[in-house]
Amino acid sequence: MVEFRADLHCHTTCSDGTFSPGQLLRHASDLGLSAISITDHDTIAAYHEAIPIAMSLNLPLISGVEFSTEHKGVSVHVLAYAFHLSSPIIHEFCINHSKRRKKRAMSMIRRLEQHGMRLTEEDLLGSLNSLPDSLGRPHIAQAMVKKRYVRNIQEAFAKYLGEGQCCFEAGEALSVEETLNGIHAAGGKAVLAHPHLIDSAAIVDDLLEMNFDGIEVYYARFNRKEIDKWMNVAKQRNWLVTGGSDFHGSVKENLFLGCSWAPFETYEYLHAHFLNNEFGVQAI
Ligand code: AMP
Ligand code: ZN
Ligand code: FE
Ligand code: FE
Repeated sequence: MVEFRADLHCHTTCSDGTFSPGQLLRHASDLGLSAISITDHDTIAAYHEAIPIAMSLNLPLISGVEFSTEHKGVSVHVLAYAFHLSSPIIHEFCINHSKRRKKRAMSMIRRLEQHGMRLTEEDLLGSLNSLPDSLGRPHIAQAMVKKRYVRNIQEAFAKYLGEGQCCFEAGEALSVEETLNGIHAAGGKAVLAHPHLIDSAAIVDDLLEMNFDGIEVYYARFNRKEIDKWMNVAKQRNWLVTGGSDFHGSVKENLFLGCSWAPFETYEYLHAHFLNNEFGVQAI
């Protein structure tokens, strides 16, 4: 029997991925994936295009988004799943993040200009027709590569855009707690994303005391030891065990779609939750 593979973490051109929602779903279908959740940074814009395409491909889809939050000055990513797609709370979060991201991007662009690297809105667009709701550092990094200010995206982050580098800007942030409250009010489930990327053990300790419903145990770059560690955390707390690739297309070439996935029981639970909670979305 072919293993049921639900990739619950991937990005599209609606945030900083390079595949459009349609391209991503067709790619998932071609790869034989069993189900998917699109988890763009701070936006659910992909679902407008994604829902009819997922239905036509007969590919089960679960609502998702990856919210940027902060705890004691440290960036924390919170995945939300199975929420009502027309939830006003989720929409308000996305609108606020979009404004925050545009302001922050402009501020980083001003800093780059002070370092002799001028970028216009056209440079940021790349191959897009309009700027995405969720403008991020990878868009700036790609524009810097195109203008030959740096050789590649990694160099852009290492020298200028990475946390603590000269042109980095954190921007205003939302707390983990207010994000968790919003997700729950929207009928969703909140999952701590890629916990192994959080360097501070004290921050992780704080997060594990919070009101999460799950933790991303299976993640692109997890090794066996990491999986066991976070699986134990999930078991102790009776949290959902999720998983996904964090696919971004060509901006993160080493992460391919479907390289990590969630256990079938998690998919089954979240999919049923998504459909049965009167989310106004037809069964797909
Ligand atoms: P932002 O949401 O604007 O803070 O940008 C976060 C995105 O930048 C995520 O997709 C990260 O994976 C990506 N990113 C962060 N650090 C690096 C890096 N060193 N090289 C490439 N991408 C990175
Ligand atoms: Zn990203
Ligand atoms: Fe993330
Ligand atoms: Fe991600």
